[in-house]
Amino acid sequence: MRILVSNDDGYFSPGIAKLAEALRAVGEVTVVAPERDRSGASNSLTLDRPLTVRQAANGFYFVNGTPTDCVHLAVTGLLSFVPDMVVSGINLGANMGDDTIYSGTVAAAMEGFLLGIPSLAVSLVGKRGDHLETAAQVALEMAQRFARAPMGEPVLLNVNVPDIPAAQLQGIEATRLGRRHKAEPVVRIETPRGDTGYWIGPAGGAADAGPGTDFYAVEHARASVTPLQVDLTFHTQLARLPDWLRQ
Ligand code: MN
Repeated sequence: MRILVSNDDGYFSPGIAKLAEALRAVGEVTVVAPERDRSGASNSLTLDRPLTVRQAANGFYFVNGTPTDCVHLAVTGLLSFVPDMVVSGINLGANMGDDTIYSGTVAAAMEGFLLGIPSLAVSLVGKRGDHLETAAQVALEMAQRFARAPMGEPVLLNVNVPDIPAAQLQGIEATRLGRRHKAEPVVRIETPRGDTGYWIGPAGGAADAGPGTDFYAVEHARASVTPLQVDLTFHTQLARLPDWLRQ
């Protein structure tokens, strides 16, 4: 199996090194990742300038673009083969509920999915990254499962793993996305030159976090796996819209 690995934290992140190392047990790994931290980049493509690809001493390719750029250019031009899987991560921090809208980690996997490749986004719930090996182990298990039991259609799985020792993990649970409260307000700061700046505040706490959600699984020491789709159409509203348009 040939696996393309990317992330949004940058090619130097300890999370991507751990992920690449773990996945080598199941296949041939190529890393193409952003040259700097692009967390929160979502599904952005760079269209106003050419991108350059360079290779680090450890063999990782790094790109002066977004996570989506990395997967897009890897699959459509840089690599001489189409990867069997795209795996993005290990992100330092949760990508649960509404986080998925903004996440560059999820976006990199989503780009693989849109290009018809089974894809996985892997995040460690906790900024400290004490137990990256736990998330790496879950990612490896998932990749082995893909190899053993392909799902028959391209899939996009969003995986969140609690930052605990692997021995304490209570299994892997299929979940739906929960919801967060509104984000914290922007923080107004004064710049050294006397201008007013605005710094985007942190994400809100979990609001819909009941049984069955990603938040609930992680809270109960389980790895969460949510299948994602890309169709943003609001189908129940679509059914009502023709009537509304006649009013
Ligand atoms: Mn990130």
